[in-house]
Amino acid sequence: MALLRRMDVKERFIGRIEHDADLLEALGELCRARGIRVGWFEGLGAAKKGALSFYDQQTHEYRVVEIDQPLEITGLVGNISMKDGAPFVHAHVTFADDAGRALGGHLAAGTIVFACEVTIEVLEGPILERVFDETTGLSLWTMPE
Ligand code: ZN
Repeated sequence: MALLRRMDVKERFIGRIEHDADLLEALGELCRARGIRVGWFEGLGAAKKGALSFYDQQTHEYRVVEIDQPLEITGLVGNISMKDGAPFVHAHVTFADDAGRALGGHLAAGTIVFACEVTIEVLEGPILERVFDETTGLSLWTMPE
């Protein structure tokens, strides 16, 4: 079964993340600066190095994978919702190396931008709040009627 709520697109931003920024931190700062509480985004570009994580479904822990080399950001996709009263960015990323090999996962702090272009859709509707879920060990959306 799926939980769905209607949202409308309020506005759309397009821009770039600056050179040497930590990608995940920069996305969070951008949301706080613009007052974005619910949204969806995507992007592409290049990173000086990458950091992603894999969620172990048995232990309920994230394992971080650091990739210390220049990478293409072939896909960045994520959403913005509220967690503990503040905007929370959840992003997944696919990187490609100089041979075109791809690696992907949950975007972690430590991905340093070489250049990155993003678009962000700001949504209007019920506030999505992340609350701890016993079954998965993750903070998942609660969806008020
Ligand atoms: Zn994730």
